[in-house]
Amino acid sequence: MKALVIGAGIGGLSAAVALKNAGIACDVFEAVKEIKPVGAAISIWPNGVKCMNHLGMGGIIETYGGPMRSMAYRDYRQGETLTQFSLAPLVERVGGRPCPVSRAELQREMLNYWGRDNVQFGKRVSGVEENADGVTAWFTDGSTAHGDFLIAADGSHSALRPYVLGYTPQRRYAGYVNWNGLVPVDEAIAPAEQWTTFVGEGKRVSLMPVSDGRFYFFFDVPLPAGLAEDRTTLRDDLTRYFSGWAPPVQRLIAALDPQITNRIEIHDIEPFDKLVRGKVALLGDAGHSTTPDIGQGGCAAMEDAVVLGEIFREQTHIESALREYEAQRCDRVRDLVLKARKRCDITHGKDMALTQAWYQELKEESGERIINGLCDTIQGGPLG
Ligand SMILES: Cc1cc2nc3c(=O)[nH]c(=O)nc-3n(C[C@H](O)[C@H](O)[C@H](O)COP(=O)(O)OP(=O)(O)OC[C@H]3O[C@@H](n4cnc5c(N)ncnc54)[C@H](O)[C@@H]3O)c2cc1C
Repeated sequence: MKALVIGAGIGGLSAAVALKNAGIACDVFEAVKEIKPVGAAISIWPNGVKCMNHLGMGGIIETYGGPMRSMAYRDYRQGETLTQFSLAPLVERVGGRPCPVSRAELQREMLNYWGRDNVQFGKRVSGVEENADGVTAWFTDGSTAHGDFLIAADGSHSALRPYVLGYTPQRRYAGYVNWNGLVPVDEAIAPAEQWTTFVGEGKRVSLMPVSDGRFYFFFDVPLPAGLAEDRTTLRDDLTRYFSGWAPPVQRLIAALDPQITNRIEIHDIEPFDKLVRGKVALLGDAGHSTTPDIGQGGCAAMEDAVVLGEIFREQTHIESALREYEAQRCDRVRDLVLKARKRCDITHGKDMALTQAWYQELKEESGERIINGLCDTIQGGPLG
């Protein structure tokens, strides 16, 4: 049996590895010649780490995962601590640690694990056709490929999603802009082994440790979409948006390199009622496009892959296997998209009274409520 996997991002590569582990050959097609990840880093929560272990790629996370041992929220003005607590109880409860990883390293290592030569680069899928014999994918260079089934892991702008859903869903602007990048760890900005977030005015500035003594940082600001801002205006833009914020935030703005800092308008898509049509299945962002507010988009793609692989270990009837995949994933990914949307709105001042109430809650937070919320999300994954 042979699968066509479209997209060689986190989702496509996880799916290819999972299917290969289940004894299914995969041809992987990637639109671009060289993959340039959209963000600087990504936090792999223990549900994702468990998936990577299950797929055989746990070594990547072990090697490149940053030492994130505690968590803190700080007030934006003077930087005083609102709450600070160890993540050890979370690790103990869910059986694994959260691992922020540089995206370039994650992408490179996943590609190496699968085999760079086993990906056909520069192949942009434009359409798909099914018949009794299997699935044919069409590429923009005029070529085609044939397999028994197809996994569309072609990201949040998925070209194959309309085929599966029967309509073209619109992306929804979540109302804020995110800037992200990497800087060397500087303890004058935040402790080296802590996830530190400064909050105020519906904005946030966050730092997470990745490997090799670097912080993954991001800034979020509620803004209209489509502003004329880019790398040339980046430092001035951040200086303006974060005027009056605490000294560590100013130090971070001074330390970052605008040339390697990304600016992204954050979107999601209303969750879908289906993920499968016949012998074609959506996986990763193609099947569930979420805001990054609970850091679960990539983890969910890994979960999709694990579930898909496990189902194909049990049964080889393609349509029923894919229907089972859809049945096992639809509710989970809907929950994650909606949970992220809710957190997004509270964090980013959609209703400022709710955001102020959240800041107040943080002052009374011992860590227990936040850890309970994180455990709930993590333990909803397929590996518990
Ligand atoms: C700012 C930000 C922060 C985030 N933080 C986190 C986090 O902390 N934790 C987390 O788990 N997730 C996070 N995410 C989400 C995570 O990045 C995505 O969920 C994840 O990258 C999805 O992987 P994917 O493989 O499904 O899609 P993608 O990474 O988009 O990969 C899709 C691949 O398909 C290729 N492709 C596209 N169209 C075609 C086509 N027509 N034909 C062939 N190939 C095609 C693309 O070139 C790409 O390589 C974050 C996202 C953002 C934007």
